Amino acid sequence: MKKIVLIVMDGLGDRPSKVLGNKTPLQVSYRPTMNRMARAGITGLMFPISQGVRSGSDTSHLSILGYDTLKVYSGRGPFEAMGLGMEVRKGDVAFRGNFATRDNEGRISDRRAGRISESTEDLCEAITMNVDGYQFTVKPGVEHRAALVVHGEGLSANLTDSDPHESGLPPEEVRGIADDDEKTARVINKYLSLTREILDNHPFNLERVREGKLPANEFLIRGAGKAPDLEDFNVKYSMKGACVVGIPMITGICKLAGMDPIAAEGVTGRADSDYESKIRAAVNSLDRYDFVLVNVKGTDVAGHDSDPILKRDVIERADRAYRQLLTDDLDVVVAITGDHSTPVSYGDHSGDPLPILIYAEGNRVDGSSLFDEVSCARGSLRINSADLMQYLLNVSDRAEKYGA
Ligand SMILES: [Zn+2]
Repeated sequence: MKKIVLIVMDGLGDRPSKVLGNKTPLQVSYRPTMNRMARAGITGLMFPISQGVRSGSDTSHLSILGYDTLKVYSGRGPFEAMGLGMEVRKGDVAFRGNFATRDNEGRISDRRAGRISESTEDLCEAITMNVDGYQFTVKPGVEHRAALVVHGEGLSANLTDSDPHESGLPPEEVRGIADDDEKTARVINKYLSLTREILDNHPFNLERVREGKLPANEFLIRGAGKAPDLEDFNVKYSMKGACVVGIPMITGICKLAGMDPIAAEGVTGRADSDYESKIRAAVNSLDRYDFVLVNVKGTDVAGHDSDPILKRDVIERADRAYRQLLTDDLDVVVAITGDHSTPVSYGDHSGDPLPILIYAEGNRVDGSSLFDEVSCARGSLRINSADLMQYLLNVSDRAEKYGA
């Protein structure tokens, strides 16, 4: 049985860029290591979730790890919260939130409280509290944004928003969608009414009013969701799983799956992350783990920034780091792909399929010679992300026989 290293280059897939002579950043990059693996292995295209789906990083990573997003993904709240580094445990309910301005008539006059530029850390701390045995924790995001995690027994996530979604209306009562969701709705409404009093009298807001700014005196919540109750990765695949990831949301997903996060020096979710260190940490963990997921975020960052040169440079730095996977004493299955495409010309996630390569000594070779979007379209593999784990189990001689 071989061990498996799965490298997810976030937002890897791209479309032709004019400034790159109508080639993709991957096509123009110097990538001898990935090309060598492509020659010694097989390549093809992977569809994130399924054909044409514009998936988020959360849904596509869940799918890559073999979890059915239609069953386990209930809302953005928990993933936003994990993205802010918050702990979301099984059974917790999480919301996306934003600080807004409520006028004297109790109506929302600005849903973003004037797009606050100051840190709302103090406000978040002031409305982090326990209500009737339920713990409410709030962490700030960018500008007026924040996330709320509710921890306690028997919570439901089938809840409406308090956010009226337009100004001029009062905040809404949170309601349960079915009868047995009412208990959760009641404690959340009690919490929200307590936050109003705290926010109205908070020095941060009193100061804003004195300065003629809009107070952040209402905390609007939306997108309730429960942390998915994922089947334990280690049991599901009979492999001990780890991850080397620089972004809290993906680390959060791996932790929910029961995988262990491995820390590595210099690893961040930015484009300047230290890939040598990341791959070294992954290789070193193989004495304790059977499977390591590595996320390279820089490719997605460059895609969102619409920067083809940065994307090419990230790919080249990552490729150099991958050399560590080609040493003779390391007999592993290496899979390299993305979670979704983030074309620099589009600046956001698209539903374009991803190039994928699978390299394992002694496995089939399909005559592929290069690793990029166009060359991989001539490779032999066509796969949905949901089937990737099964495929990897087979090439690592770990798959269980189906039938006699
Ligand atoms: Zn992503």
